[in-house]
Amino acid sequence: MNETKKSATEKSAPEQALPPLPSTEDAATSDKDAATSDKDAATSAKDASIIEPKVKSKALSVAGERLVLARAYRPRRFADLIGQDQVRRIVENALSSGRLHHAILLSGPRGTGKTTMARLIARAVNCRGRGKEVDPCGACSSCEAMARGEVIDVVEIDAASHTGVDGVREIVDGAGYRPVSMPCRVYIIDEVHMLSRAAFNALLKTLEEPPPHLRFLFATTEVEKVPLTVLSRCLRLELTRLDSETLAAHYVSVSKREGWQIEREAALAIARAAEGSVRDGLSLLDCAMVESEGRSIVLERVRRMLFLSDGHALYDLLEAIVKGDLPEALTCLDALILKGAQAERLLRELMERLHRLSRLKVEGGTALLLEPSDRERGEKLAQGLSLASLSRLWQIALRGYEELRLAPHPRSALDMLVVRLVCAAGMPLPREVLARLARGQKNKEENKEEKKEEEKKEEERGGAYEEKLREAFPGATIEERTM
Ligand SMILES: [Zn+2]
Repeated sequence: MNETKKSATEKSAPEQALPPLPSTEDAATSDKDAATSDKDAATSAKDASIIEPKVKSKALSVAGERLVLARAYRPRRFADLIGQDQVRRIVENALSSGRLHHAILLSGPRGTGKTTMARLIARAVNCRGRGKEVDPCGACSSCEAMARGEVIDVVEIDAASHTGVDGVREIVDGAGYRPVSMPCRVYIIDEVHMLSRAAFNALLKTLEEPPPHLRFLFATTEVEKVPLTVLSRCLRLELTRLDSETLAAHYVSVSKREGWQIEREAALAIARAAEGSVRDGLSLLDCAMVESEGRSIVLERVRRMLFLSDGHALYDLLEAIVKGDLPEALTCLDALILKGAQAERLLRELMERLHRLSRLKVEGGTALLLEPSDRERGEKLAQGLSLASLSRLWQIALRGYEELRLAPHPRSALDMLVVRLVCAAGMPLPREVLARLARGQKNKEENKEEKKEEEKKEEERGGAYEEKLREAFPGATIEERTM
């Protein structure tokens, strides 16, 4: 019992990295952790509610505390899970037909909803008022107990901190006993790939012949590290990374529901920084709300918050590089650095632009990678550049990125890199050099022929003149004389 956390479903930490979410899911229940951790946010939310009292904020709980958005907007129904339609359909079908696999393995990148999905399933299988619906009713004794976090039959284990065999042995030993108060005993094991080989082995037998009241829900970011023997005994569900557009749309809708305005480009910048994770993005949105004024989030603020450079200034720099204008390029670079850009981050953003331009070149209007304000300048720039030269600039930048990390003065390394990029942009590509050489050869040959024709014409002209002379002076001899 020491090894496993026998708290309720929501009592475990979220998947990784982010500030720990408070324990219970239900916004209405107050909880000491939540009260302290969200204290600052609570004040701001209270102020905000004075400005616009009509808005029914989900993040503002009954007790007046401000919940973090990631917690307030954690899906409570399967339909609320965004972007995972295929997995959702499988689970819903299994639930409605009552044929849910006893062991499910949810894999996918972090922040895609694995733990959320596992918790929803745990609630659904234990809900007593669900009937033919797939979503937990939220009103029956099981649902209420789980919302309060008072269930000992739903156990969440973080395999990252319980890698040993002992925790698993506890599960295996307890597997035979019937659940205490719920229809099913559910074990949610997060980051299951972290379990030791011995732990996996201890689990195998139970996985193969599980008692009917037992359910295993595994979540992992690295499915390839899970032994095949375990994989083959599970229903595997793969959650996919969400694209920036889907995420941005979600953040726009959440902001709206909270009574905030957000620029689409600001939402897109947040989505991009979230790298496919709904939760990461919601946390960033939280920060943006704290930093912004007047219930309106603008791109400029988000950029500053994320330490992103001004997109237009980056394009100025790129354009100068492509034009081969070194003084201009260095001036642009100075301006960016003056505004607070760090050398390494700046180079990363420059490389990202080169990548986006290449995608734009290949995909044209369908490329979703450009911010709308970028699109015009990006398209113009991409038009004047070949894919080959874009890829050469990228290669030089990548090499420069490695050097930047080794350089004693990153700033001067960045200067020198820009010099190199400008030189490279002005240089013809090998293919162009070959084409030019071939053209030169052809010209030479053409010139030779032209010369021959000219001589021929000259000769003809000379012949005609001679004839005229003979006509004028019959019988005379014609000598050629040079002066
Ligand atoms: Zn229920």
